[in-house]
Amino acid sequence: MIRFEQVSKQFPNGTFAVKSLDLEIKKGEFFVLIGPSGSGKTTTLKMINRLIELSNGWVWINERKISDYDINELRWNIGYVLQQIALFPHMTIAENIAVVPELKNWDKEKISVRVDDLLNMVGLDPKEYRNRKPNELSGGQQQRVGVTRALAADPEILLMDEPFSALDPFSREKLQDDMLEIQRKLKKTIVFVTHDMKEALKLGDRICLMKDGEIVQVGTPHEFLTNPANDFVREFVGGRKIPIHLNELITQVPAGQVLSDTKTISLSTPVVEALEQLALLEQIAVEDNGKLLGFISRQNALKVMTQYMREGGQIHE
Ligand code: ADP
Ligand code: MG
Repeated sequence: MIRFEQVSKQFPNGTFAVKSLDLEIKKGEFFVLIGPSGSGKTTTLKMINRLIELSNGWVWINERKISDYDINELRWNIGYVLQQIALFPHMTIAENIAVVPELKNWDKEKISVRVDDLLNMVGLDPKEYRNRKPNELSGGQQQRVGVTRALAADPEILLMDEPFSALDPFSREKLQDDMLEIQRKLKKTIVFVTHDMKEALKLGDRICLMKDGEIVQVGTPHEFLTNPANDFVREFVGGRKIPIHLNELITQVPAGQVLSDTKTISLSTPVVEALEQLALLEQIAVEDNGKLLGFISRQNALKVMTQYMREGGQIHE
């Protein structure tokens, strides 16, 4: 569907933003580009819709070089969502969504139906929101309109550059859920840039981790969690940070038991340290302010940890 072949980008000031990139994004795939700031994610994304010219190599869409497309044909067939909501302030929500369908000369009735469908899809009641101006919506609602506007003319491809990173955690999760639903219904090919691994693991069919303009690893969320290519990936995935609180590992609560010969740790002990102890001992006791809370057995700790790793998305700071 979208194929990068030895693509490089060097800016006039000499910066090599992308270095000989080879990458294939499949039709209908939710593809996430992730990496630290300055790793070349935005440059990669903008080369797809020719907002940035390639220095070397080729990008193909449906087996046709992007340079062979008429630029308008190309852009209209690619929706684009940015972090900074770029709705036109003097236009209503309905007018904002209708921009590309109008350019494509859809008839009024078809546009109107499309606007209502899209607003419904992202949970904004058309009767209430159609005629509002962007400043009469919250940040999360505006970004939802940004997504519907990008989808309005039914493009095959949707490019999203850190679209939710300016939102509060609640709106952000809601919009992530919306995106999964949209993807399930509409089967678009989505290229989504983020620097948040949790978001990438939640949304991506596949993830591509970049560093200094190069690919470090491409794979499914499962592969990132279970088979990181190197320490950089491991650190990015957060594999060294364990999300579980110690009290989630405690199994038996004793009735007035006091054990003198069991290794006892405090509830505030980092989980990693508790696990290190369990590498040596079958079980450890946990106390909080002198009160015995219970025990962690090696067997149970392993079981809980394995479950966490299987669920993948649970790994966070
Ligand atoms: P990311 O989106 O991963 O943060 P970018 O693709 O924006 O990274 O940038 C990659 C590298 O290219 C960075 O070093 C950045 O400073 C540089 N860069 C981006 N745009 C330009 C530009 N127009 N001119 C010169 N250097 C640029
Ligand atoms: Mg960027």
